[in-house]
Amino acid sequence: MAEEDDKRLKKRKKKRLIGADRRRRLLRLKCCVQNYDWGVLGCNSQVARMFLLNSGSYSADPDECYAEFWIGTHKSGPSFVFFGRDYNAAAIGSKPLSLKDWITVDPGAVLGDKVARKWGGDLPFLFKVLSVEKALSIQAHPDKELARALHEAQPSIYKDDNHKPEMALALTGFEALCGFISSKELKGVLSSVPEIVELVQGADAEKFSHDSEQNGKEKVKSLFESIFGQIMSSNKAMVREAICKLKRRLSLEKKKRQLSTKEQLVLRLEAQYPADVGILAAFFLNYVKLKPGEALYLGPNEPHAYISGECIECMATSDNVVRAGLTSKKRDVQALLSMLNYKQGFPEILQGVSLNEYTRKYAPPFDEFEVDRCILPVAASVSFPSVPGPSLFLLMSGKGTIVTGYSEESTFQEGEVLFVPAYMEVSVTAAATELHMYRAGVNNRFFRDL
Ligand SMILES: [Zn+2]
Repeated sequence: MAEEDDKRLKKRKKKRLIGADRRRRLLRLKCCVQNYDWGVLGCNSQVARMFLLNSGSYSADPDECYAEFWIGTHKSGPSFVFFGRDYNAAAIGSKPLSLKDWITVDPGAVLGDKVARKWGGDLPFLFKVLSVEKALSIQAHPDKELARALHEAQPSIYKDDNHKPEMALALTGFEALCGFISSKELKGVLSSVPEIVELVQGADAEKFSHDSEQNGKEKVKSLFESIFGQIMSSNKAMVREAICKLKRRLSLEKKKRQLSTKEQLVLRLEAQYPADVGILAAFFLNYVKLKPGEALYLGPNEPHAYISGECIECMATSDNVVRAGLTSKKRDVQALLSMLNYKQGFPEILQGVSLNEYTRKYAPPFDEFEVDRCILPVAASVSFPSVPGPSLFLLMSGKGTIVTGYSEESTFQEGEVLFVPAYMEVSVTAAATELHMYRAGVNNRFFRDL
């Protein structure tokens, strides 16, 4: 009997191994586009370019805004699997096979056991390209605890129960508002922007301006919180009037002096979102300008707004956003005010760490993801060693060949997205043009810490 059991067990193990091997293969993905109204119009958008190349479509709609190209398993924009170059070959009947379906059959084989155990059998990160023409909303993303509560209370707005740390890696010059300015800078705002002071209780503005050296850190933080809260909660008519005055004053002063970069930004925001309280909020946030190849990351509960430019973005698999300004979407000012961490000071800018002469790694302090940026000259080769988790590769421009540790070889063209399962080494060789490629994977620190 024991012998019988043993045989059956061996048979089952063998079957599992064959199944696992079939799962350990390179997949091509067909990915989804999001046409939010802040995106770049028509074929000028990098997102449109990626989407058209990826889907094999011929032209972009010139009247459509192409904002985000999504790669991953999130239900609001899932990616689908190709086998070889045949998209339909992966379909089950008439239903295309999603990357999520593919993973779900055997998460351990596809994601690696550690990743499958930690993230419940799902891909832990979502990879995107963003083309930003007009500012995105002033927003923050909840931590896990708040995400669960928001999702339970309003599932139609907060679509999942996950947190959403994120990182933006600039493809072009990229502008953003991110995190709160220092107390010293806020003093400057209170002395130079009377329209802000008029909306704040005189005592608070006075205390902050005169006593902040004597006040303890906690007191300064709570005054900052109170002043920002009063601006964001001011009634619409008062906000409209303050912005009207601000615009008039800056238009006059522009003739006499060079406006500060923040003042110039505020006027741009006013043209995009007239009378929106987010214009005033911009005075409280750091104005960050990234060069191509620089990255910015955002933890839970940090206020931010992307303003313009194109970037690669990576985040935990979530779409939870609490908005409070610069938007026509639903705002939840009170939720935003109570969730913010009120950390002050300029954010850290990542330059990437060199892995080899062609590749730099950007690793934010989150377990879910890291991004590699690889620029490969004509005919050069680079290899990405096997890692214990899954990777997504996006070819932004150029053409090349890709070879896996299992000796699969295929061409790799711009707009193509590849899913590489755990424990698979890949080598890429550029053809006759320079190749620009991005890889997203689980943060290396997650494997180190285990
Ligand atoms: Zn965000």
